[in-house]
This record gives sequence, structure tokens and C-alpha cells, in this order.
Amino acid sequence: MICIPITARSTEDTISEMSLASKYADLIELRIDYITELQDAETCIEKSLNSKTKPVIITNRPKREGGKFSGSEQDRLRLLQKAIELGADYVDVEYDSSNHITKRNSSKIIISYHNFKETPHNLNKIYNDICQRKPDIVKIVTYANDITDNIRIFDLLNTANMPTISFCMGELGQISRILTGKFGGLLTFASLERGKESAPGQLTVDELSKIYHFKSINERTKLYGIIGNPVSHSMSPVIHNASFREKGLNNVYVPLKISNIGAFIKECGKMDFRGFSVTIPHKESILPFLDEIDHTAGKIGAINTIVKQNGRLTGYNTDCMAAVMGLEQSLKETDDTLNNKKVSIIGAGGAARAIAFGLKEKGCDIIIYNRTLERAEKLSNDVKCRFEGFEKIHKLDSDILINTTSIGMFPDVDRTPVPQTVLKAGMIVFDAVYNPIETRLLQDAKKRGCRTVNGLTMFIQQAAEQFRLWTNIDPPIELMSNVVRETLSRLPA
Ligand code: NAP
Repeated sequence: MICIPITARSTEDTISEMSLASKYADLIELRIDYITELQDAETCIEKSLNSKTKPVIITNRPKREGGKFSGSEQDRLRLLQKAIELGADYVDVEYDSSNHITKRNSSKIIISYHNFKETPHNLNKIYNDICQRKPDIVKIVTYANDITDNIRIFDLLNTANMPTISFCMGELGQISRILTGKFGGLLTFASLERGKESAPGQLTVDELSKIYHFKSINERTKLYGIIGNPVSHSMSPVIHNASFREKGLNNVYVPLKISNIGAFIKECGKMDFRGFSVTIPHKESILPFLDEIDHTAGKIGAINTIVKQNGRLTGYNTDCMAAVMGLEQSLKETDDTLNNKKVSIIGAGGAARAIAFGLKEKGCDIIIYNRTLERAEKLSNDVKCRFEGFEKIHKLDSDILINTTSIGMFPDVDRTPVPQTVLKAGMIVFDAVYNPIETRLLQDAKKRGCRTVNGLTMFIQQAAEQFRLWTNIDPPIELMSNVVRETLSRLPA
């Protein structure tokens, strides 16, 4: 179930937001502590309960538990008791206040514990202490300082013997808000829209429903995720969740912001993860923690995909073939191939590495240009090709030019890594940057009569290949492309 908290400041706004939220939510939580005037709070409870169309939880959170109520404790408890007298469906009472509230009518009591600093190690004791007060529902909400904190919340939910709401707050706790249904959690909270969150890390109801298909998640749902840092702006959850749904798979894909990769890999075995995408900064650092590495990925020395089968983790690199495929498609238009093509690659990071190895195998004559010369030298030694410093870029002369730096990426959309003079008619220009889809480099290239390949082609192909590796099913490429284009078009310009 999805519960939308209402954090309006007045009765009028509460009623109107409740009415809107009721279209999307299974339950509404009225955060009485957000109401500015104490007198208004009492009226608000009464009017809201009279006009409700969905079950309502009344909450009046004190400051000590992260709430906003600034009046006396006596007034706070009086309002909660009033909500019970008026027949609220649920009343949320903090553990330390639960002895001061009397259960009446059909109102159900949620006894809650909130910790805004951490996920303590004595969760079972907290749970048992709450149970002894005989609530109808237990609620334990903590703060995730590490992604593995979520696992302890999942363990708690797995062993809970009464209706329980439990998740972690904060960015690192988002997966527990998304996946609570898999582990038996009663509900999750989602904000009506951005800016109306009642706690850190809360997703919007739109994100939960449209990206993660929250209500389809159950104990049989298989887990996938993107390992990286940062990951909050990754488009991979949008693309993979849409594809899983399109193919009728009971899978969900979540962002995993990881700082300590070794600790995560050790702990993630406790969850039902079947595969991962891997992005900056873990594409290379993750290698020692894998059981097997695919031949091409091993040669590249970086992976972007993990398949978990029979408890074993195998790493692959789908960036490599995705880039090669994009270029081959472009060459096919003139019945040409990559063999013997002169290729200039700008950049020497992870993307450059994958692309350089792929093109070397296809018989290309490669030269790397990079700002940090040592990095260019290292990559050229590994691939067995030439290298130059960034300052020599104006001299480049090749059949194919590839940008693998972030120059030109949003928001620096007016920047380009090369002067227009190096762009010659007939040249193929490929930009790995995909936001925006048509970068300044590609615009310049078109004007100069070059053929262009955008980064979106590579992005879609690498995701499509991941999908195939995880599911053994043909990926819905057109849908993937539409989903990314649509998401990019909604980003701020
Ligand atoms: P990375 O490993 O961090 O490498 C970044 C590269 O860009 C390095 O060579 C770096 O040079 C260079 N660079 C960054 N800022 C620069 C600047 N201001 N001037 C000159 N050089 C600069 O990153 P990555 O994983 O290779 O990703 C690079 C780009 O490719 C990103 O824009 C990413 O979004 C894109 N990408 C796209 C796809 C796709 O599917 N389309 C896949 C992967 C990556 P130094 O060595 O001197 O720092």
C-alpha cells in the first residue's frame, strides 16, 4: 500500500491536498504537526475525517522525533486522543507516549519509533519493546548511513510477527522504501509531489508507481540495481524497469549508491539480487570481488554489468560492443567496415578504454588524446596504440573521431572538445555524451558534412545487452529508446 502524507499548514489546504492525494494513495497520513495554529489543528482533524474518501492515519509528531509540533506535550496528546474519539482509522503514537493514549472505537494504534541519525543495532529489542505495548501496527523508521543498513530493516521485516511498517530514511534508504513489499512491510510513504516530502529520502508517488511499479513488487520479485556513486541521476532505473514491465517480468531495478564496494558485495548475497549495472567509480574497483570475468571485460579491465547465477558473480562489459555496434551501423550505410579505419579517441577514462579495446579488435588504427598524458599513455600501452596530449588535438586527422570526455554534457552544452577545423566532410563523429542527444560537437560535425553517431545509441545498446544477459530475452529496444528520449525531454533545459 502507498500512504501519502499531507503536510499542509492550514485546514483548507489539507482538505484540498487530501482530495488530490486520495486519487493515488491507499491511505492518507494527516501530519497535524504541520498545521500552524493549534486551534486550527483540532478543526482540521474533524473536517478531514468528515471529508475523507480513503483511510486516514493521524500523526502529531513532536520535534524530538523529527516532527514539527511545537506546543505542549499535553496538547499534542490531547489532539491524538481527540482523533481516536472522532474515529480516525489509524493514530500514530510514539513509543514513549503510548502509555498516555487510550484505545477506543475502531481506531487502530500504530506505535512508532523514529531515529534520524542511524539504524541502531538493537532493532529486535526495539521491535519487541513496541510489541509489548500491544499496538495494532508496529512502525520502525531509521536513517541509513550505508546501503547495508537497509538489509537489517529487511531482516526485521522478514521475522516480524505482526503488521509492521519499517524502512530507512535518507538517500541511502530509498531502496527500503521501494522494496518494503518484497519483505512483508505493510506500506510505504510517498509524497504527492517534489517539495512535499514529510521525511528525507521520500520518493514521489509518481516515481514509486511509474518507475518502480511499487504495487507489483512481492516476495517473488527479483532484484536488479545500479552500483555507483552518485546514482541519483542515472537513467538506468527508468529504462530497465520499463523493459521488465514490457516483457511481463516480475523484476525491479533500483539505484544503489555505494561507497564501500567490498562491504556491499559481501552483504548483498542476503538479498535476492540477480544482476547489477556498474558505473563510475566502481567499474574497475569491483573486479577483485567477482567470481568470474568475461574474456572481453577482462582484457578491457573494467566491467559495467554483473550477472548473478547460482550465487556466483560474473562481470561483463557491454559498453564495448554497444559503441562498436553504433559505429558499424553508421558504416553499413556505405557498405563499409571498421577494418583499417584511422580512429581518434578523445579521453582515456572508462568509456575510452571500452571503446578502444573494441575498435582494436575490429582492426582500427587508434590514437588517444587525453588531458592527463600519463592516463593516455597507460591506455595506449594496454591497447597497443598511439597517444598524444590534448594540446595536439587541432592536428588530428582520422576517419572516425570519438569524444569520450564529458565536455559538452549538460549543463555545459555550448562546449566542444575539438576546433571545427578538424571536422572534415565524410568523417564519422561519435559523441559518447547523451545528454543532450545532439551535442555541440555533433552539431558542428553535421554543419561540416560529417556523419554523426550520438551517445544515446551506445547507451541504449549497452542497456539492451545487459537486459539480454540478465533475462535471456530479446530487449525491447524501441521502448528503451522512447523511454530515455522522453526522460531527457523532461529534464531542465
Ligand atoms: P571517466 O572514466 O571519468 O573519464 C573521463 C575522461 O574525460 C577522462 O579522460 C578525463 O580526462 C576527460 N575529461 C573530463 N573533463 C575534461 C575536461 N574538462 N577537459 C578535458 N578532458 C576532460 O568517465 P567515463 O566513464 O569514461 O565517461 C566519460 C563520458 O562518457 C561521460 O560523459 C559519460 O556520460 C559518457 N559515457 C557514455 C556512455 C554511453 O552509453 N553513451 C557510456 C559510458 C560513458 P583526464 O584523464 O585528464 O581526467
